[in-house]
Amino acid sequence: MDRDKILIIDDSAVQAEFLKSILKEEYEVTTCQTATEGLKQAQSGEYSLILLDVVMPDMDGFTLLRELKSAFQTRHIPVIMLTSLSDVHNEEKGLLLGAVDYVAKPFSPIIIRARVKTHIDLYHFQMQFMEQALVDELTGIPNRRRYESDSVMNWRKAIRFGCPFSVCMIDIDQFKLYNDSFGHPAGDKVIASVAQVIASHLRRATDFFARYGGEEFVVIQVGETAQNAYNFLKVIRQAVEDLHIPHSSPDREWVTISAGGVTVTPKSEDSYETYLKIADTMLYDAKRLGRNRVIWSSGSEQWKEKE
Ligand code: GH3
Ligand code: MG
Ligand code: MG
Repeated sequence: MDRDKILIIDDSAVQAEFLKSILKEEYEVTTCQTATEGLKQAQSGEYSLILLDVVMPDMDGFTLLRELKSAFQTRHIPVIMLTSLSDVHNEEKGLLLGAVDYVAKPFSPIIIRARVKTHIDLYHFQMQFMEQALVDELTGIPNRRRYESDSVMNWRKAIRFGCPFSVCMIDIDQFKLYNDSFGHPAGDKVIASVAQVIASHLRRATDFFARYGGEEFVVIQVGETAQNAYNFLKVIRQAVEDLHIPHSSPDREWVTISAGGVTVTPKSEDSYETYLKIADTMLYDAKRLGRNRVIWSSGSEQWKEKE
């Protein structure tokens, strides 16, 4: 396992080196002599802990702490304040601003190591908890909550870069019937298998896939043409059919999915909800026309599989 990274921000090189010598056996330690440099380092990433001096010439530790806690990339990193200002008032101020702990100089190496370890352990626990809160338990793919934040983020990205955005709703066909015939636990296994085969087809870092709820999924593609996005969903639809999971319906031999999608190059005045509704309408049409098919809208054109 990679070693945890610790950032020390202290204008005194002597103090910083002393702290580093205490921690470098167990951690990968970076030191910065100014608050400005420290902020830049913290934003560049992946620190599990920051040790922050209160008194520094360019920007004091409290101001920097406020900056760290207000930025999305750094607000989750635990900060321990270091100071010789060992008075109750400053300690309270640091804690209220979001520091996790406070250590007064001169340091005892044993205490420093112990506190650092405690806060890094807590940090990992919290990260794991936060990640789990965004993953669907049954399928292991992103859940609805993660979808809510990522869909908006991708939509804004497409507006900013002026590139196409596609959203597609996927729904398992006649799934109530499946549950009624084989039972809910068997139905759960089908949902997981379908999610897995769809996930295995997503290759690009910009592809997003989530369980929308029940037996419904959502796929978001940024930067793909409408034709490519549509073709991609046809491949996925076929891959699910090719799993050959027996269905109990007189209409279909295997478990299948229907999908409805839309591709748009969004402008800032456009609303994501409007396009999501179009995707939903396309899905409804796919169901109405016999299921196990993909229907896509590019605004001006419409593509229907099997017609
Ligand atoms: P259609 O082809 O029109 O989509 O028909 P359908 O039966 O799939 O549609 P409907 O929305 O009527 O039913 C969805 C069913 O999916 C209802 C419920 O029994 C089942 N379902 C929803 N969530 C879960 C789940 O987490 N596990 C299982 N096993 N079944 C679920
Ligand atoms: Mg449904
Ligand atoms: Mg269904």
